[in-house]
Amino acid sequence: MTSNLRLVLSRVAGLFLLALAVCGGAVAQDQPLRMKYWLAMSHPNSHLFEVKIEVEAPANAKLDSLDFQMPKWSPGRYAVFDFAKNVQEFQAAAGICPPKSRCDMAMRPVTRVDDQTWRVPFMNSQSLTITYKAFGNDLSGTFSELDSRHANFNGGCVFMYVVNHKQDAVSLTINQPKGWRIVNGRTESKDQSEWQFPNWDIMTDTPTEIAPDWTEDDFIVDGKQYHLVVHSFGNEGGKRPALVRDIEKIVKAETAMWGAPEFDSYTFLVHFANDGHSNDGMEHLTSTQIIESGALADPGMSEDALDAIAHEFFHVWNVKRLRPIELGPWDFTRPANTRSLWIAEGITNYYGHLMQRRAGLWTDAKLLSTLSQQITEVENSPGSRLMSAEESSLSAPFIDDAVHAQQTNLANTSISYYPKGEVLGLVLDLLIRGKTNGKASLDDVMRRMYDEFYLKSPNATYYLRGRGYKNEDLEQMVSQVAGAVMSDFFKRYVRGVESPPYEEALGQVGLRFVREPRQPVAVGISPDENDKANFTIGRVRPDSPAADAGLEVGDKILFFGGLKITPTNFLKLLNRYKPGDRVALIVQRGARTMQTSITLGEPQILNYRIEEMKDASSEAKVLRVAWLNGR
Ligand SMILES: [Zn+2]
Ligand SMILES: [Zn+2]
Repeated sequence: MTSNLRLVLSRVAGLFLLALAVCGGAVAQDQPLRMKYWLAMSHPNSHLFEVKIEVEAPANAKLDSLDFQMPKWSPGRYAVFDFAKNVQEFQAAAGICPPKSRCDMAMRPVTRVDDQTWRVPFMNSQSLTITYKAFGNDLSGTFSELDSRHANFNGGCVFMYVVNHKQDAVSLTINQPKGWRIVNGRTESKDQSEWQFPNWDIMTDTPTEIAPDWTEDDFIVDGKQYHLVVHSFGNEGGKRPALVRDIEKIVKAETAMWGAPEFDSYTFLVHFANDGHSNDGMEHLTSTQIIESGALADPGMSEDALDAIAHEFFHVWNVKRLRPIELGPWDFTRPANTRSLWIAEGITNYYGHLMQRRAGLWTDAKLLSTLSQQITEVENSPGSRLMSAEESSLSAPFIDDAVHAQQTNLANTSISYYPKGEVLGLVLDLLIRGKTNGKASLDDVMRRMYDEFYLKSPNATYYLRGRGYKNEDLEQMVSQVAGAVMSDFFKRYVRGVESPPYEEALGQVGLRFVREPRQPVAVGISPDENDKANFTIGRVRPDSPAADAGLEVGDKILFFGGLKITPTNFLKLLNRYKPGDRVALIVQRGARTMQTSITLGEPQILNYRIEEMKDASSEAKVLRVAWLNGR
């Protein structure tokens, strides 16, 4: 509605004036606000980030109040964490103080509307200044950490958005402790402390590191700038130059598949936390956060970091730009629900591994054993036969690092969309290669999805280019690229819970699929890893001899067939038996010691192995070389 029209309308009858009032409010809400965010950290050891938000409404807007909201979760990690729990000392004042000046501001009353929302009335002013503190003491791809060593923040748990104005442009100014330097994936100049973002979503997509002692190594691929920012809390052992070279190889392998990315520069923010537990990776539009629990000098730590980087960098295309329709812009008042994380995360996991082979960092044997491990995990999980790839995606809020105060049966009923999507990606890729005699592959499916949904579709929302896809879109694209109707595959293995056709797929590239029992007999229990001395049951498989015998998690097995049993001798003891044998047990449950027995079953847990067929056809060998090298 324009202001001229408002004048004309103001001359008409009262009924219309009422309509105008309602309508006028709605229009004013849609007008963008001017929003400036300020972040300070004057007492690092308090772990309190100090946030100030200055909001100016347009001169003609009639706004009663604004709602400031803390997200319940943040993109890329789907468990609900309720970041509002770490907010304190929320205050609101009328007006905006000019920078570097003292001014007495009239305070505004604050109403806590619900668990995540604070409401502030304008009361005849056109601008507001909000301040609050956010506690952060976790180094991760989702949470934030402020301490005497550094500030590392992810915006979702620090910055509130203004309800209905998440799409408005925002600026961010950071006041860091003296001597600390700021870096993120949108840093354009040295000593930069202020950023402009097109909207709140992009601001929170820009994790930032602030410390006196991070290092930066740069390289260029296809004219694009890459920055490796490393903050090491332990010895590097001189391994950083090799790490930079290996990251460059991964970037080259992945851009060889996708083509040059659309950004001008990209930043890998890597922490070697050296604390034995912090471990994470998180994708962003022009950066990634990688956190390793050891020191770079530790054996295997560089390889771990590269594995995470190969995965996160693939997300530049798959999920950050080519994305499921539900993933952006987001509703942060409830968990995300998408059927497509098996594509966004699982297929990314598949390529993260394959790309390390294509980059020359992994041997064929390393790739095949890694893929075998993923199949072994999926096929031995009882949840695989209960939960489909789509249901697994929908269950992300329960299984993606969610904390459960209530006991759950998820260990028996769920399967992660990471390995499930990875094995589906592998099987789809090899089937397409076979069906097209090597003329097409899953690489083509992904590229064409990126082209159609990200590059060529009109922008569906304020958030990003293009539009999100649905599972059905991928199904159609797979059929198009494979030149064959693939709906049966999606029905049985994506929406259904059948095992995908591993033999058929691996056979296309001259690989054999081998299954072997892990143990001679099935019992259906595994020890609780927290109890090293006793065999305390950590898990009971449903439909197993242990479940039939009434054994429960927490039971201590003292004697197995008359012999003392420990977590270490358990597997060796099983070698004395064959399926059908009846074994006497002495079990301690709480304060009670009981005698019982168990009838051992046919092996349930299998090891899966992928090996080269000695008699593979030359055609299959050609397909294998193309798959491994990306042609
Ligand atoms: Zn740091
Ligand atoms: Zn991922």
